[in-house]
Amino acid sequence: MEKISIIVPCYNEEETVALFYQEAERVKEQNFPNVAFEYIFVDDGSKDRTLEEIKKLAKTDETVRFISFSRNFGKEAAMLAGLDSATGDYITLMDADLQDPPALLRKMYDMIKQEGYDCIATRRVTRKGEPPIRSFFAKCFYRVINHISDVQMVDGARDYRLMTRQMVDNIVSMREYNRFSKGLFGFVGFKTKWIEYENVERVAGKTKWSFWKLFKYAIEGITAFSTTPLLICSLIGLLFCLIAFFIILFIIIKTLVYGDPTSGWPSLVCIIFFVSGVQLFSLGIIGQYLSKTYLEVKHRPIYIVKEKK
Ligand code: UDP
Ligand code: MG
Repeated sequence: MEKISIIVPCYNEEETVALFYQEAERVKEQNFPNVAFEYIFVDDGSKDRTLEEIKKLAKTDETVRFISFSRNFGKEAAMLAGLDSATGDYITLMDADLQDPPALLRKMYDMIKQEGYDCIATRRVTRKGEPPIRSFFAKCFYRVINHISDVQMVDGARDYRLMTRQMVDNIVSMREYNRFSKGLFGFVGFKTKWIEYENVERVAGKTKWSFWKLFKYAIEGITAFSTTPLLICSLIGLLFCLIAFFIILFIIIKTLVYGDPTSGWPSLVCIIFFVSGVQLFSLGIIGQYLSKTYLEVKHRPIYIVKEKK
């Protein structure tokens, strides 16, 4: 019998874990009579009763497994832990809040089986229920990253996807510390089909992403999948050298023709401010890459497991 592993990262999801399990079981009973399920709930250092809720499910159902982290390591780490320990032939990642409808699973499974895809990925076509400012910045991010990165990232892409064993093996073989899965999925390649659905709002609880957290995540995506910002710094430097060269020529000629009246202090101050601003900005970009490199070379564990079943 074939097996599907369902990985569910959970951070403070005490209200949604049981609801998620009910819905997934319903889908299993209705649509998957001949396929086994394996649930892997990853408790990402929750501060509420999430782990207790998961343990309750694990007691009554032997297909429910869990991994509990020693602290909050982030959704990326939780997804990796799940992928590391999944034993299924097909593996899927789903949010605990039912924003990734388990009901789509049958359609995804059929596509993999019949149409020969390695991965069925989902994207939401609407961002209903999301603050407009967040949608706006998300759109900007995708526009920028797709211009400057070789790996294509799809706007509205969810982490919800069904993948073959082979694809997952390749994803977990990449042990980078600064993980940006949306890019990693694209990087490994394989035949991927995108299916679309309308955004669903979470059943209970609150989103874990603050604006600041998302901003840092976006920077992570850019530094992990593009070195174009570094190139831009070099080009700006080159441009400034050229401009300086012409200004020097201009001043020499002007001095020879008109003499040397001491004027131009305000413009000089402006230029100093502008140039040092550009320098600091460029240094900051280099610093971003350096700090990511620093974190990589330390080879710290991506997550630490406290308890598992
Ligand atoms: N999540 C996690 N660790 C975190 C933040 C979130 O495991 O540090 C999980 C969370 O429990 C949920 C999923 O990631 O199952 C998506 O989070 P959320 O619904 O808050 O994000 P959104 O859907 O608003 O993008
Ligand atoms: Mg959600």
